[in-house]
Amino acid sequence: MQFKSVLAIATFSVCIMLSACNNEGSSAVTQNNQDQKLKLQPIVIQGALPVESERMASKLDQVSIETIGGWKFWKGTYHGYPMIISKTRMGMSNSAAATAIAIERYKPIAIINQGTSGGHDPKLNVYDIILGKYATNIGAFKTPSKAVGAGSNSLEWVEAFDVLPEDETDPEPIAIRKFEADSKLLAAAHRTQHLYQKGKVVEGTIGSADVWNNELDRIHFFYQNYGTSVEEMEAASVAQIASQFSVPFIGIRVVSNNITNGGTYDAGTGEACQDFVLEVAEQYMSEQLKD
Ligand code: SAH
Repeated sequence: MQFKSVLAIATFSVCIMLSACNNEGSSAVTQNNQDQKLKLQPIVIQGALPVESERMASKLDQVSIETIGGWKFWKGTYHGYPMIISKTRMGMSNSAAATAIAIERYKPIAIINQGTSGGHDPKLNVYDIILGKYATNIGAFKTPSKAVGAGSNSLEWVEAFDVLPEDETDPEPIAIRKFEADSKLLAAAHRTQHLYQKGKVVEGTIGSADVWNNELDRIHFFYQNYGTSVEEMEAASVAQIASQFSVPFIGIRVVSNNITNGGTYDAGTGEACQDFVLEVAEQYMSEQLKD
């Protein structure tokens, strides 16, 4: 064999050996990274209705479904990160129960409540997303006293009732309580917001109650006195439960309707919000990996 061919074969063999080593090295790193991801406690992402949860569930890998009472949980991974998608059903009680169950059962690293909402701020358009810097209950009041026959006017219900007072002996816990979003979840959402192309992404206050308000004066009352950007039926309830377990929380809501500026209901918003929130969750989890 000529010297040149020997050299060529030798070089070729060394190259193969080196690349084998490299591949082994990088696949070991990948495996290690996968293992680290799976060691994290799961993040729980909630949606009240099928249109607010099933799209996320369909994107999980290694899914198993757990049903506890009337509440459904999809347990799996998203891009290797452990995640639980929870269908809470609508309203304050359902979402509180689903939250307590999820915390006890899955010991989540954090909870994101997301879904559709109705605009209180006329500057918000259908498809805009609100990062809930605050979530607040807009269904708890102490009403003024009125005699029989004197009627009822909700615009006069100016005293908010705090259902989670620090002093439990206080007979009149009158206060607007706002639950603040976890700063790391909020930061992760901000770092992800450039990926959302269907509307703007802004910080705001989410108001929650078992009420769908269609009276514009009433909506304006909340906008002015509670600073609400949007209303829906779950986030403040979930925030209340998460706070009592000290689990990091944020509400993220898409405007699906806004009667303050003629924005009619669009069901596609529920899917858009789910896609965005999955990205936020992945961003948050990737940062947990570094901590
Ligand atoms: N529009 C839906 C029904 C939603 S009803 C449909 O036809 O499929 C109420 C649910 O939507 C609640 O879970 C609540 O969180 C959310 N929601 C959306 N817009 C709302 C609004 N303007 N007021 C109150 N809840 C709203």
